[in-house]
Amino acid sequence: MRIKCTECHSKAIISSRNELDPKVADLYCMCANPECGASFVMKLSYSHTLSPSRSQAHSMAVELLRGLPAAEQLDLLQQARAAG
Ligand SMILES: [Zn+2]
Repeated sequence: MRIKCTECHSKAIISSRNELDPKVADLYCMCANPECGASFVMKLSYSHTLSPSRSQAHSMAVELLRGLPAAEQLDLLQQARAAG
């Protein structure tokens, strides 16, 4: 992951990371430009999911199927196989 110095726009190095929550971290950064030497904290946060985790998709499918009568479950499985 690339961080740019907020002062001189040179490359900065992440010296440490403080995990505040699984989706938010503070990144302690130091500018690599010896003539600048700024240090600062950037916040790294989760934004949104593009595709769900395979394990999440699997458990969602199982939950959805559980809510249906057995005949419909089989019907959906057949449809899924035909589509694949
Ligand atoms: Zn700098």
